[in-house]
Amino acid sequence: TQYVYRFGGGVSDGGQGDKNLLGGKGANLDGMASIGLPVPPGFTISTAMCTRYYEDGQHFPDSLRAEVAAGLTHIEGITGKRFGDAADPLLVSVRSGARVSMPGMMDTVLNLGLNDRTVEGLAAVSGDARFAWDSYRRFIQMYSDVVLELDHGAFEEALEVAKEDKGHFLDTDMTADDWQALVASYKKIVEQQWGKPFPQDVNDQLWGAIGAVFGSWQSERAKVYRRLNGIPGDWGTAVNVQAMVFGNMGETSATGVAFTRDPATGERAYYGEFLINAQGEDVVAGIRTPQYLTLAARERAGAKAASMEEAMPETFAELAGVFALLEDHYRDMQDIEFTVERGKLWMLQTRNGKRTAAAALKIAVDMANEGLISRDEAVARVDPAALDQLLHPTLDPAAPRDVLTSGLPASPGAASGTVVFDADTAEKHAAQGEAVILVRVETSPEDIHGMHAAKGILTARGGMTSHAAVVARGMGRPCVSGAGTLAIDAKARLFRVGERTIREGETITIDGASGEVMAGEVATVQPELAGDFGTLMAWADGARRLKVRTNAETPHDCRTARDFGAEGVGLCRTEHMFFDAGRITAVRQMILADSEQGRRAALDKLLPEQRADFTEIFEVMTSLPVTIRLLDPPLHEFLPHEEAEFAEVAEAASVAVDALKRRAAELHEVNPMLGHRGCRLGVTYPEIYEMQARAIFEAACDVAARTGNAPIPEVMVPLVATRRELDLMKGIIDDTAKAVFVEKGREIAYLVGTMIELPRAALKAGEIAEVGQFFSFGTNDLTQTTLGVSRDDAGRFLTSYVDKGIFARDPFVSIDTEGVGELIRIAVERGRATRPDIKLGICGEHGGDPASIAFCEGAGLDYVSASPYRVPIARLAAAQAAL
Ligand code: PEP
Ligand code: MG
Repeated sequence: TQYVYRFGGGVSDGGQGDKNLLGGKGANLDGMASIGLPVPPGFTISTAMCTRYYEDGQHFPDSLRAEVAAGLTHIEGITGKRFGDAADPLLVSVRSGARVSMPGMMDTVLNLGLNDRTVEGLAAVSGDARFAWDSYRRFIQMYSDVVLELDHGAFEEALEVAKEDKGHFLDTDMTADDWQALVASYKKIVEQQWGKPFPQDVNDQLWGAIGAVFGSWQSERAKVYRRLNGIPGDWGTAVNVQAMVFGNMGETSATGVAFTRDPATGERAYYGEFLINAQGEDVVAGIRTPQYLTLAARERAGAKAASMEEAMPETFAELAGVFALLEDHYRDMQDIEFTVERGKLWMLQTRNGKRTAAAALKIAVDMANEGLISRDEAVARVDPAALDQLLHPTLDPAAPRDVLTSGLPASPGAASGTVVFDADTAEKHAAQGEAVILVRVETSPEDIHGMHAAKGILTARGGMTSHAAVVARGMGRPCVSGAGTLAIDAKARLFRVGERTIREGETITIDGASGEVMAGEVATVQPELAGDFGTLMAWADGARRLKVRTNAETPHDCRTARDFGAEGVGLCRTEHMFFDAGRITAVRQMILADSEQGRRAALDKLLPEQRADFTEIFEVMTSLPVTIRLLDPPLHEFLPHEEAEFAEVAEAASVAVDALKRRAAELHEVNPMLGHRGCRLGVTYPEIYEMQARAIFEAACDVAARTGNAPIPEVMVPLVATRRELDLMKGIIDDTAKAVFVEKGREIAYLVGTMIELPRAALKAGEIAEVGQFFSFGTNDLTQTTLGVSRDDAGRFLTSYVDKGIFARDPFVSIDTEGVGELIRIAVERGRATRPDIKLGICGEHGGDPASIAFCEGAGLDYVSASPYRVPIARLAAAQAAL
């Protein structure tokens, strides 16, 4: 078997640069060599050798010695230097390189091949004794650290002492003699700590380094990193041995880093920095200020030092040519390291460059337009989750920030406003045109109107799926949740954080993408939704099969979702409409009534309100399907808490306050989420669902009459477990429809279906589909009921579950494809067997999660439904799932 693959000087043994065999670094070096780029010659020992090394009890086969020797001969042939030659020595670097870059492994040894004799040769050939001795001391230090694993503190101390003795402040003050003296001290340290002299035989040095790279694959640090990142232990690492080139050989030498396009904006302009007469680490270390690559960049920054384009025009032109070749070859934006040694350009490294979400979008669209990649590839390249950053205002990166604290990045976007501590104040101030941030310990359904009125929401308690987080995401409001260091004193109308106090009316800024909370106003940048964004979304729409609907219950949210491309409403939660200020009293009156007659009196007040809600939504959604879910939550969520509220309801219903309180106590449930909710409300109080059905059909008839566009209502029954429940509810809905259609003298096509959010419903989907014309998977509840984990309280222990690998991700964020997923697959199969044209969708939070959307594509659902701001994410994720 071949273990050594040469590259450089017209050779590229690796063929197409296989990452699995050569590791990421080796594959890229080989790839650059294969397209004729100037790569310092070298060779890669494959990852297969690493595997064999461990199989053989950490020994190298004899054949490897011969292969490595041949590799060195290759380097020597091209450079004209010999390894260990005292007159003109070849120096090499030795680097590890796994398939994916992996901190925790031995990284790099530079200048290998220096010893007491070759250092003199290097000094003579370079004409720079200082450079030679500096290189030698760097080599001893690095080798001792990463190969011999000696304590590096002793070396740093020796350097400090040497500088102090000479009265030097900077490394650059050190002379050739100073470095030579330090080399002597370093060698003493090695002998003391290691018990042997520093290896003078260059081949010993090389094999020591190769062994250290392979050895580091099984180091504790590397094992931990692999475990945390799910990297298999049998991948192994490759070793790259490569001729050294020097950017610190005078004024015609330089070193730099570059991106082929701007990684912040995606603009098609070279972006990077370089330093004349320096080594790679000097650019990173920030001791000297690097210079710009291009004239344009230098002028824009108003910098004085010449750009590379001006200082080294020919080399710069060559580099620009290399950028073009690299983008053609890798078909992506590249992040590059290069060195110029006495006027000669060398490419040290290339890889796909990291970029911001905005840059990813622009680069994907530009590259497709340039013909470098296909439109499908452009669609596949943008991370749907990162779109979130582009749909909301973001903090101006240049604006100063006074950070108070941080919490969870619960809902993206940045917002500034004055602090308020309750929903009513939020609404009042917002009505006067003031931007407010609602600050609560945690939020509940009663805060919805305040959350709507606020520009942003900040809570001290609660996780990523807390009420505040879910509702804020749904509304597209920025939210920082669980900022644990906030001490809120709502009575005193202030919060404290550390030493600081912020009072009601003072301005703060929250960044829901990072979780930061800042004092004062921080400038924001508005998103750009047309242009490249629109182009990419259109391409995505062409590629996807799944339809995308939205979860929305206000006309405003419906309009936002339509602007984002929603193809219908997948879930309109009617209870949210019940919390409105004008209605809550009637709702409470209905709940607390102890007779059907009392309930009907209250429902009569709600009917026109509810009809008006649906009318507006139908108008916004014109002829797109609108799934309206009948009342679902446990009634206790609507009950009054305060004396004044009881008094108000009592008056509206003309009953005694005490009687009401007794009734409220009767309604108390120990476990309300498994209690009197969902269709169980319709079973016990059919008049509630009757009122809601009437509101839906009256609104639909009115809108059809007025606009000529017939709405498409899909009436959805929640929390069904049995066929009989749905039978009864469908009976109420159909009877009401018939009655309304007679009254209005017109018929509207509609569907009646159910949510699947209980395991029994999934299992009995075959029977339920005899009645239900559609299923919508309510995966919030289905996850809760399948795992037996409370969606409201799970935050307390779920993080430990994710840390310990019990769940790969929070199952309320990304669907548990094995458990909950199996129930969905069963329900799909059994539902379709009964009713082949049954409409299937998902309306849990998972409908906006890219990984869950991929699952839905595989399960063969017809649509996903996501909150308005997640609609574009869902469109892109659905396209990627279909590609
Ligand atoms: C669900 O349970 O997934 C669902 C969409 O309903 P809700 O979140 O309103 O319970
Ligand atoms: Mg539910």
